[in-house]
This record gives sequence, C-alpha cells and structure tokens, in this order.
Amino acid sequence: MAMTIPSDLLPADGRFGSGPSKVRGEQVRRLLDVPAVMGTSHRRPPVRNLVARIRAGVAELLGAPDGYEVVLGNGGSTAFWDVATLCLVERRAQHASFGEFGGKFARATSRAPFLEDSQVIEAEPGSVAHLTAAGGVDAYATPHNETSTGAMAPVRRVADADDGALLLTDATSGAGALPVDLTETDAYYFAPQKAFGADGGLWLAVLSPAAMERAARVEAGGRWIPEFLSLTTAVENSRKDQTLNTPAVATLVMLADQVDWMLGNGGLDWAAKRCAASAQNLYDWAEARDWASPFVTRPAERSTVVGTIDLDPGIDAGKVIAILAENGIQDVFAYRKLGRNQLRVGMYPAVEPDDVAALTACVDHVVDRL
Ligand SMILES: *Cc1c(COP(=O)(O)O)cnc(C)c1O
Repeated sequence: MAMTIPSDLLPADGRFGSGPSKVRGEQVRRLLDVPAVMGTSHRRPPVRNLVARIRAGVAELLGAPDGYEVVLGNGGSTAFWDVATLCLVERRAQHASFGEFGGKFARATSRAPFLEDSQVIEAEPGSVAHLTAAGGVDAYATPHNETSTGAMAPVRRVADADDGALLLTDATSGAGALPVDLTETDAYYFAPQKAFGADGGLWLAVLSPAAMERAARVEAGGRWIPEFLSLTTAVENSRKDQTLNTPAVATLVMLADQVDWMLGNGGLDWAAKRCAASAQNLYDWAEARDWASPFVTRPAERSTVVGTIDLDPGIDAGKVIAILAENGIQDVFAYRKLGRNQLRVGMYPAVEPDDVAALTACVDHVVDRL
C-alpha cells in the first residue's frame, strides 16, 4: 500500500458513496431474520404485507397529504422518467437542468415524438436553475437534490403556472434526507439505493390526486403506452400492495427496515437534521482549508446530503481518492461527467456524522503527506 492511514483516524464505516450508498448491517441481517419472505411469491401475503408496510411507512415518513398515494414499480428512477414522459406530460414539459440527472429527464421528454419541444431552463453545475411559469406548460420538473453536483433546491410550486399544471420532483437522492412539504408537489419520486440505503431496481413515487387523474386521462387518450410504463397500471397494482412484475424481494426487505429505522429514530426531521449535521461538518472543514472549497457557491444551495468539495489544482483528487480507497474509504469520487478535481461525499441518514468528521481527518492526513 502506498500510504497507510493510521487506524485511529479511520471512520468506523468507509462507505460514502452517493448511490448506491451505505447499507446498514441490520438491513442485511434482516434478510436472514424474515423467513418465509425471501424466495416466496410476490402475490402472497408475506411479500404483500412487506409492500404494505413500505407504502404506509413512506407515507408517514414523508408526511403524505390526504389523497396522495405511494406507488411503486420496477426499473428505478430512470424508468420513472419514461413513465412520467408517457403518462404525466400532456403536451409540454419544462425542466430545470443543473446537472446530469435533471438533464437526463429533460432529454427524455425532449425526444418524445408526441410532445411539443420541452423548455429547458439551465444553470451551470454548482448552481440551481429555477422553474418559471410559461403558458402551455402542463408539467414542470426539477431535481430536489442534484446528485451529480451536490446542489439542492427547495420543493415549491411554480408561481403563476397554468391551472392544473403538475410539478414532478426527482427526489431520488433527497427523499428521506431533506425536509419536504408534499402539498407543494404532485410526484415525489425516488429509488431505494440512496437515502434509504437499500438496493437499486425499484422506483417509488408519492403521487397527488391531480397526478393520478392526469395519468388516467392521458392513458385513456390515443397515446400508445407500454404496460410496463403505464402509471395507472402501477397505481392499480400498488393499491393491491404488489408490482406489475416480479420485484427484488431483498430490496423490499432492506427498504422496509430502513423506513422503520428512520421512523423509530424520530422520522424525517431526525434524518434531515442528521444529514445536515454531517454536511455542516464537511463544508466547515473545507472552508477552513486553503486547498479545499465547497463547489456550490451559494451556501443555501449546498446539499445537506451529497457534498462536493473542490481541491486546489496542485492536489490530485484522483490520487487522494485512490489512497482513501486503499484504506477502505470508498466512492468519494466526483460524478464522472462533471470532470472536476473534486471529492463528493454521500451523507445519507445511514452515515454516522462522526464518520464524516473522520473522513475529513483522513483527507488532511493524506494531503499533508502527498
Ligand atoms: C441516482 C439518481 C437517479 C437514477 O436512479 P436509478 O434508480 O439508478 O435510475 C435519478 N435522479 C437522481 C437525482 C439520482 O440521484
């Protein structure tokens, strides 16, 4: 090993990935504790009860208003972009794009031959683009937390939008980690491998009555919608606590455990404060170093769940990341397409704030010796 970090500096757990992210040991052990679930039919009570627990737990955790429903399906958040393109955008979408993920959804609706050209409001990575009312737009879309850059935006309806326009919030890395008032949005969608510390492959969405009505109307019209991407089909299946096709049962087990863990510790308020404490530590540390600085300029836009720290050009972040990895500190690399000399740190609820502090001490140790 090129450099050994003293063990008393190392975090207890070295997983700081932005997704997939740290899975707690208890979640994995739960797979052994729940006989009669793994390897059983997703149409029978053991698995359906698990899905029911997840749906009720997510609704409670995120404070779903009356009439909102927790819906799920296979394919992760990327599949939900196609579901939304097909079933939630009637004629024209507007997107806030300030990083890879917001940009990907914008490309999905822009390419759809049955929609008018999407409006895309862009901002430089490291800042936040804001949706603005425009006539004829019936669906507005923005990330809650842009995982590729570490910038976050509050969930807020677009002032003066046309009546009935929907807001679609990509909360893949924000749900369960950032505060939210769901009355402010119509689709708050996410996947389990970020703040919920489970495994990938599913999408979940908390949908408003308006979103479900929109899907029913669009799907009753002439548009061809593959069954796998039909939101009304997903709603019908979710109401029966199942998915259209076979889900990864292990993901459900770990997700259910994480939701219970969060609720047992004080719910979303507890989780959000824990992430914010980790983030405060990381940003304060960076600001106190003359060779490191938070990438996101405006403090209010600095994500309290995925932190991005630029390093001075004289310090090779790739080398720092490689040494950290050799010492068991994993996945603090910048988003590949961003191409910056940067560390990116996932500070989801499962990550101990003390471990984030230990990580910063390890970076100091490595940089001092380069
Ligand atoms: C990870 C991520 C996605 C993609 O999620 P998948 O489940 O891998 O499709 C989408 N949006 C954001 C903001 C993400 O962080």
